Amino acid sequence: MKTVLITGANRGLGLGMIKYLTKFNNTEKIIATCRKTSEELSLLAQESNKLQIISLDVTDWNSLKDVTSQIGNAVGASGLNLLINNAGVTTKFTKLSLVKVEQLLDNLTVNTVAPIMLTQSLVPLLKQASEANNSAPMGSDRAVVINMSSILGSITQNDQGGFYPYRCSKAALNAATKSMSIDLKKEHILVAAMHPGWVRTDMGGKNAPLDVDSSVAGMFATIQKLGEADSGKFFQYDGSELPW
Ligand code: NDP
Repeated sequence: MKTVLITGANRGLGLGMIKYLTKFNNTEKIIATCRKTSEELSLLAQESNKLQIISLDVTDWNSLKDVTSQIGNAVGASGLNLLINNAGVTTKFTKLSLVKVEQLLDNLTVNTVAPIMLTQSLVPLLKQASEANNSAPMGSDRAVVINMSSILGSITQNDQGGFYPYRCSKAALNAATKSMSIDLKKEHILVAAMHPGWVRTDMGGKNAPLDVDSSVAGMFATIQKLGEADSGKFFQYDGSELPW
């Protein structure tokens, strides 16, 4: 893959993915989008001329047209090979007796509505990349959308209840992933949902068993192996398939 875009790239898993791509991958253009650039992300951009930072609050719908044109200029004729909808939020401790409307709507807006609207806006660039590589099989040499989901969005694996805002928003993102995979099949754009594992970030907390680098290396190894039969499926960072 020549061109990659990752949302929420200033910290946590997003930053980890940018680091990985600048150091270990032959990607030609890496676009990091974030609300506020962190010192670490700025340093990476100073060190790598492949990396471009574009400002994006994923819930700022009015900015999508302008941001899409900035991304189009950045990737040029190659189009966009890989979009990772990574930016996300969670509201913890939301038992049925306590959950609030604002928490449900906030998680849904960032975790579900935003990835749908950004993908919608970037389809022409994904299509361009897919067409530019039409002799390659479906996958990261053509065009891929990865929606960063969570095992907490799996209905099958929910045996503990609670977490209403986060679970519902990620389950809805999973539903969107399936629809995108069907709708974009004719353009040969692969779409999959990814669970990064339980990872030590601000969101995952200090007790999470997995470090960012291991999760990120696993996710990219998995993404690079995806083929046509994997579109519309839900994977864990280590490549194993998860139930919806
Ligand atoms: P962090 O809380 O560490 O980082 C979240 C990122 O999302 C930040 O860059 C944040 O930016 C960004 N973000 C949130 N809201 C917006 C917005 N409106 N516009 C733009 N960016 C926004 O989380 P992780 O890195 O751990 O999580 C990344 C993804 O992985 C999420 O989708 C999460 O649900 C998923 N995930 C994480 C797991 C874990 O164990 N860590 C487990 C399962 C899934 P800002 O700094 O501006 O707030």
